[in-house]
Amino acid sequence: MRDVTPAEQEYLETLLHLHEAGRPLTAANVAREMGLSAPTVHEMVRRLQTDGLIERDERKRISFTEDGMAVAREAASRHRLVERFLTDVLHIPWHEVHAEAEKIDQAMSPAVAARMREAIGGATTCPHGHPIAAGNRVQCGTRLADVPVGGRVTVLRFENERPEVLGDLHAAGLRLGLGGTVTARDDDAVEVDFGAESPARLHTHTADTVTVWTSAAPEAVAAG
Ligand SMILES: [Zn+2]
Repeated sequence: MRDVTPAEQEYLETLLHLHEAGRPLTAANVAREMGLSAPTVHEMVRRLQTDGLIERDERKRISFTEDGMAVAREAASRHRLVERFLTDVLHIPWHEVHAEAEKIDQAMSPAVAARMREAIGGATTCPHGHPIAAGNRVQCGTRLADVPVGGRVTVLRFENERPEVLGDLHAAGLRLGLGGTVTARDDDAVEVDFGAESPARLHTHTADTVTVWTSAAPEAVAAG
């Protein structure tokens, strides 16, 4: 893999995630996803372009170069593998592993990665539902924020791995594979009855980071 800085890798991983989610690769979407200011992101996007990892068209739409895509897939794949190892083998809670994995994934050798792959058995996704074989995502599911009242849902993926977002989801009682029914929604929030004492109330932007299967396809629920 060519030499790229840890910061460049993190941006490439975010771009890959937008690509997997079928969303436009723009600096604005990167800024939103990473919780950074537009100027910070513009600076890094220019650097990625200078380094030949991405290209931009006249409308400022970003696309990967072949090298950039290879680096992004490799980085995302290692990150997701480490996250799965931290939850399944070391029993660290799923909402805490993203930042830990960020520190480990860039430093480990291929030999350690191979041992981790053995240790996680047949797991195919990170603990947030993203494929360890990066780029091979099954393009389906609906954003929880878009499900009407009465819709039956099963939690499939957490799209935004910022610690504060995952912390909110964990505090609301969500986890992958959990099934429930949307009981109420308004402009600010969505309420879902997951069988707990009281329904989970999620802010609309938070609910927009959760991908669910809706009742139309319950048989397709992945075990992760
Ligand atoms: Zn993850």
